[in-house]
Amino acid sequence: MTTTDSGRHELLGWWEAARRDVPWRHTRDPWAVLVSEVMLQQTQVGRVAPRWQRFLERFPTTAACAVAGAGAVVEEWAGLGYNRRAVALHSCATAVEERHGGAFPDDLDALLALPGIGPYTARAVLAFAFERDVAVVDTNVGRVLARTAGQRLTARDAQARADALVPAGEGWAWNQAMLDLGAAVCAKRAPACERCPVAAACRWARAGRPQPDPAVGSHAVSRGQSRFAGSFRQGRARLLDAVRLGEPVPPERWAEACGWSAGEHDASRAAATLVADGLAAFTPDGALVLP
Ligand code: SF4
Repeated sequence: MTTTDSGRHELLGWWEAARRDVPWRHTRDPWAVLVSEVMLQQTQVGRVAPRWQRFLERFPTTAACAVAGAGAVVEEWAGLGYNRRAVALHSCATAVEERHGGAFPDDLDALLALPGIGPYTARAVLAFAFERDVAVVDTNVGRVLARTAGQRLTARDAQARADALVPAGEGWAWNQAMLDLGAAVCAKRAPACERCPVAAACRWARAGRPQPDPAVGSHAVSRGQSRFAGSFRQGRARLLDAVRLGEPVPPERWAEACGWSAGEHDASRAAATLVADGLAAFTPDGALVLP
């Protein structure tokens, strides 16, 4: 796909008919957009939708989130996984209150300076809340970019290509369309090129999809998650779930809360990393509680 071919027109036309209706596409509130983007990192769309609404009912603004405290956000995050995202959201809400008086900056550098906001999330806020003509590059978009280019891309190349593709004044719809194309058509294992709106402009498809797939190892394309069942991460998450129940969890209950038998993993390390990540705190007598 290039900025001069018809692929862009075809993609927007396809998206008008195929677009997914998800609740965060009905808002332009930067806080609500940010919460959706953070939840969607590592969590599936279907699981995020009800939790996004519930989260915003409890923390409708950055002010409400900042005042509630990190512990309340960690508590609300139960079941979503990758709990450090909850602490990062709270830190970001606090910084928006302190640095910007509760109004998200409409500026890439200022957004990147906020805690927990990286290049993808900053551009997502600009594109989906402020309707700016910047491109977001997540794993799905990264796959489309590499395949249509017919080559593995560096971070700089991928972002430059993505930015150049955005049609003037259509950044919001364009980014949604690219995300949906990567998720629904240009799938990781079995891309549906026969029904892809940009197939005519896709170098990899036109070349007969030779191996290796250019998306493998290309910028932003996920390599898949490490095994969770039986892992240290799983035990740590279970320990945090026990802390979320509200009662202090003393050291003698940590291994059991983690689901570990004697010597399987180090429950003290699980507790210490929860505290180091801001997800829990120690009481004076060494029990774990929400921060
Ligand atoms: S033609 Fe195939 S490989 Fe190329 S972008 Fe479309 S689905 Fe992906």
